[in-house]
Amino acid sequence: MTSIPNYHRRDTVGVKVGAVTIGAGQPIVVQSMTNTDTADIASTTKQVQQLAAAGSELVRVTVDTEAAAAAIPRIRERLDALGCQAPLIGDFHYNGHTLLTKYPDCAEALAKFRINPGNVGFGRKKDQQFSTMIEVAARLNKPIRIGVNWGSLDPALVAAKMDENAALAVPKEAFEVTRDALISSAIDSATRAEELGLSRDKIVLSCKVSGVQELIAVYSELAARCDYALHLGLTEAGMGSKGIVSSTAAMGYLLQQGIGDTIRVSLTPEPGGDRSKEVVVAQEILQTIGLRSFTPLVTACPGCGRTTSTVFQELAEDIQAYVRTQMPIWRETHPGVEDMSLAVMGCVVNGPGESKHANIGISLPGTGETPAAPVFVDGQKVTTLRGDSIAQEFKSLVNDYVEKNYRPVSEIHTPNG
Ligand code: SF4
Repeated sequence: MTSIPNYHRRDTVGVKVGAVTIGAGQPIVVQSMTNTDTADIASTTKQVQQLAAAGSELVRVTVDTEAAAAAIPRIRERLDALGCQAPLIGDFHYNGHTLLTKYPDCAEALAKFRINPGNVGFGRKKDQQFSTMIEVAARLNKPIRIGVNWGSLDPALVAAKMDENAALAVPKEAFEVTRDALISSAIDSATRAEELGLSRDKIVLSCKVSGVQELIAVYSELAARCDYALHLGLTEAGMGSKGIVSSTAAMGYLLQQGIGDTIRVSLTPEPGGDRSKEVVVAQEILQTIGLRSFTPLVTACPGCGRTTSTVFQELAEDIQAYVRTQMPIWRETHPGVEDMSLAVMGCVVNGPGESKHANIGISLPGTGETPAAPVFVDGQKVTTLRGDSIAQEFKSLVNDYVEKNYRPVSEIHTPNG
């Protein structure tokens, strides 16, 4: 676990989702969601597999139509045949009660159901439809997430809260009332699920909003009011750097406060972009805070007027991509390698110093410096690289470091070893 000063993980009830546990002090779980048409079995299977390979420990898929519900068992079978164990979570809105009862194989193949209490139906039907979904979960011993969302909050609940507020001697601000409605919707729905027979260790809560300060306020209060495991995420975070920065700002603060048992970074991919990016960002948030390690991270300087070439940026990017590509293999063969640190620096000013702090680092020559790149291993200069094949030679040194320092467990514990 972590050695972050003053860090205390909030105590929560653990929820098992397949082989993964959310909460109860277990490592914070990374999850993601597909954006394929779930009824398209081939493309959904492929994307789940890609997300899982990138490190998504749970993968959510939308189940919005009969065709999607019918596809779920087939997708599960294909994933199993491919050796992909990632539990599938079904995301239900409006017709979940129908799909879960009409397609029992779908309900069985899913490891968890996400239920949005704002989108389970209207009027008197709402309670009945919610109950139906909970009863299926209880009967099949499946966990659920009560996932409330700012954009789909039950309007009747908001109206009732606004009326209550208007009658107060000193009414609260409208945003405070809405925040209270969000949190109440989640906790009241969880209470109702328990009354319907679902045990507490089968319930995860989320209350997603799209603003950083609102998310911090909502989750701080939600965490204070219950001990359910919490799924953390900024909804509609947006594209590119905006989505990454806002998710990191909000989730970084909350995680540092010990709030959050599983996270999803909801990035809007660039057209044709890689969906797995949201998994990488989620991992990097957890790793840079110091809560988990997933893959060796490369420290690189930003470059400045002392570097007129892009060699060191290219090398830093190349090395980061290389270790990420190697991780599915290294994770199995060289346990502990995810904690390895690397540095790729642009000149002599901070290059040798930063490189010495890494397990393996290289300081490339800046403008006007002798064209030589000293390499440091665990603080000691071991060699100097020159010429056009620096990148290849440095990768080779990284491989040697991994082989020497992260040997397979079986090799470490051989009877004569
Ligand atoms: S290490 Fe050198 S190149 Fe990199 S930012 Fe510092 S001074 Fe500039």
